[in-house]
Amino acid sequence: MRPIGIFGGTFDPIHYGHLRTASELLQALDLSEILFIPCGDPPHRFSPTASSDLRLCMVAAAVKGYQRFLVDDRELRRDASSYSVDTLRSLKSDYQDRSLCLLVGMDSFLNFQEWHQWSEILKLSHIIVAHRPGWKIPVAGKLEELMSERSTHRAEDLHERRSGCIHVRSVTQLEISSTELRSLIKAGLDPKYLVPDAVRDIIAETECYGGDIQA
Ligand code: ATP
Repeated sequence: MRPIGIFGGTFDPIHYGHLRTASELLQALDLSEILFIPCGDPPHRFSPTASSDLRLCMVAAAVKGYQRFLVDDRELRRDASSYSVDTLRSLKSDYQDRSLCLLVGMDSFLNFQEWHQWSEILKLSHIIVAHRPGWKIPVAGKLEELMSERSTHRAEDLHERRSGCIHVRSVTQLEISSTELRSLIKAGLDPKYLVPDAVRDIIAETECYGGDIQA
């Protein structure tokens, strides 16, 4: 049984930086599928601009028709804060015989040791870190120490071991962020070719980020 990729995020909105990264990791690591899990109330940051329902709807529209990308709404159904460790525990009980690979961008990984119960996370899953424009791998400090204990260059380790590996991977660098998308849309600019057309249609129809995109 191949590992499952877990891709959590605010997805406010989902964009091609997320989708291309997920697609390259799926293929390079031979994952069976990737679960996209929009977060509800992110513990580490300000509240999202678009509602939970709309962010979920945009993620579903973005992955529609691709059988190996699935949407999972468990964080949005939970009342409490969306801690990754709780999500992984719940996934582990649903997929008992599978290894989980938590996919994160380098920017998110750099504060990994501030995450709630971070060492538990490594007991539940592997961590796959995708390079992201503007962010560098740590070369000193506690995170570098953790990486020297846990990192592996072998994708096979993610299949052979159940959890605990850190694997850093280069992906095509797409300098797209949801923050920049929200500001360009608010300024009345069109996000075409930065997000899938189905996502652009939802943004245009609901005006969830302000602006006025012409259909
Ligand atoms: P924001 O700008 O609102 O913070 P974001 O574009 O970083 O949003 P998130 O939904 O917060 O998107 O990110 C979810 C995950 O996707 C994170 O692990 C993040 O590092 C990763 N990610 C986001 N954009 C990219 C990108 N362009 N390339 C690679 N990884 C990305």
